[in-house]
Amino acid sequence: MNSHAVSAQETLEPWQQAEKTEVWEPVPVAVSTTEGQAPSDAIVLIGSNGLNAWQGLEGGEAPWSLQNNVVTVKPGTGDIKTKQKFCDIQLHLEWQTPTDVTDMEGQQRNNSGVFLQQRYEVQILDSYNNKTYPNGQAASIYKQTIPLVNAMRPAGEWQYYDIIFTAPRFSGSELSQPGYVTVLHNGVLVQNHVKIQGKTEWIGAPSYQAHGCEPLQLQDHGNLVSFRNMWVRELNTAK
Ligand code: MG
Repeated sequence: MNSHAVSAQETLEPWQQAEKTEVWEPVPVAVSTTEGQAPSDAIVLIGSNGLNAWQGLEGGEAPWSLQNNVVTVKPGTGDIKTKQKFCDIQLHLEWQTPTDVTDMEGQQRNNSGVFLQQRYEVQILDSYNNKTYPNGQAASIYKQTIPLVNAMRPAGEWQYYDIIFTAPRFSGSELSQPGYVTVLHNGVLVQNHVKIQGKTEWIGAPSYQAHGCEPLQLQDHGNLVSFRNMWVRELNTAK
């Protein structure tokens, strides 16, 4: 042991020793928050801005319905996607399925979904007392990962997702790091830093193909699913 270093340490007051492990940079940027509203540094996707953040899959105006800051699927018009592209994000969205579920079972009971980077689907479905394959129920990473619990509220009530997504990384055409996703459903942890296995597939195994930052996409599965208070924060880790 270096006896000189030890004696120098012993001459410091405790508060001086404590200072050695204080880190003063960088200072976190201030973000202001209001209950029920997007944080000050978020990009509002659905709020008082109508469908301005959205377009149809082939471009042009997003063809879904808009009333009182609530966006509802217009069945048969197709999915919509954000105009802006995103990499790593924190995403908040609130969604609601209709109360009339006559003759609707399993995957047919008010299905939609949010596709991260237009590829990786977090399932939206009325999964309240509705049996289906669990890796396809609400808050599943569709056909990949079953949610930890079923946090569904009854149809007609507003549900919400908070999603933290680390986008996959590619080196040329090769995957260098898979994507990861954490999902809270109505405030309950349902996906805990889960590895994404590749692009969501209805049939067959998922796989990755290289891509960059891409839009968010909401699914038209032919059902009247509604959305409100949807916002996204870009995370610096993507840069
Ligand atoms: Mg779906």
